[in-house]
Amino acid sequence: MAMKSKVLIVGGTGYLGKRLVKASLAQGHETYVLHREEIGVDIEKVQMLLSFKQQGAHLVIGSFNDHQSLVKVVKLVDVVICAISGVHIRSHQILLQLKLVDAIKEAGNVKRFLPSEFGTDPARMENAMEPGRVTFDDKMVVRRAIEEAGIPFTYISANCFAGYFLGGLCQPGFILPSREQVRLLGDGNQKAIYVDEDDIATYSIKTIVDPRTLNKTVYIRPPQNILSQREVVQIWEKLIGKELLKSSISEQEFLAIMKEQDYAEQVGLTHYYHVCYEGCLANFEIGDGAEEASKLYPEVKYTTVEEYMTRYL
Ligand code: NDP
Repeated sequence: MAMKSKVLIVGGTGYLGKRLVKASLAQGHETYVLHREEIGVDIEKVQMLLSFKQQGAHLVIGSFNDHQSLVKVVKLVDVVICAISGVHIRSHQILLQLKLVDAIKEAGNVKRFLPSEFGTDPARMENAMEPGRVTFDDKMVVRRAIEEAGIPFTYISANCFAGYFLGGLCQPGFILPSREQVRLLGDGNQKAIYVDEDDIATYSIKTIVDPRTLNKTVYIRPPQNILSQREVVQIWEKLIGKELLKSSISEQEFLAIMKEQDYAEQVGLTHYYHVCYEGCLANFEIGDGAEEASKLYPEVKYTTVEEYMTRYL
């Protein structure tokens, strides 16, 4: 039987966080969810937290403004997973995690920390473009703090959240697929990797009690989901039984349009640029010192791109 642990999820009400709570409960871990005092009367968040409680999670009160409150909740568990926000068009609070790192350091009992990463591996993005590089730079600041504090970690590189990338046929600014047309980014042939958000949570929770993932980066690369934008479009065309009208946006045009957008939009577009024009997610081999989730956990039946896209029919 798989080992069970005590797990604290920070950011449990978020887009990914709520799935981490669900996966932690499903895998039988004693699951604690941070209820931040600042939530106040945000009725949706409070109701979500209460639903976690009904499913067996423990709610624990704490605040990023109160160091001792964080130390106290961290002392209850063996594993801390943070899914704090990190998408500029929504909210970006990655550096707040430094406070959590301080609390974990002081508590001294945590056997594994998964910081809020879940995207492109920031360690590979030292040459990333402004302004989007802020995401990678901030995540690296957090990594350095974790490593300097000697906290055992696992970094999850989850590649593309399916909801953003498949939903929009890899076009920034879209999260529902058109039945009429699509704009290819360049030739549309760069490979990227798409992962169902629930699968990201399942794999992430699998790593927390696995000695093979200690102090390592785990990339999530479901083999059938390594596809170019053109291939994603073909899958959608097969599902709707119709060819889309295709146009293309050149690299130069994309960058020129990007410069006219506000800061938050530019950050997002920079990420699309690296993924769709440069192929930054799939253009390297996973070397020594890192692992790949679908190889570590072949028992997980991951969602294929085609299966994921049927929800849009
Ligand atoms: P959300 O925007 O859904 O936010 C998650 C949580 O952040 C919130 O529920 C809240 O937690 C917490 N939070 C927000 N503001 C504050 C604050 N001021 N103080 C303390 N906590 C705060 O996050 P996502 O799920 O979108 O992102 C999670 C991670 O996934 C990030 O690292 C992000 O970069 C990454 N990501 C990757 C993508 C990809 O395609 N690879 C796409 C999207 C995200 P609570 O209220 O519960 O305490």
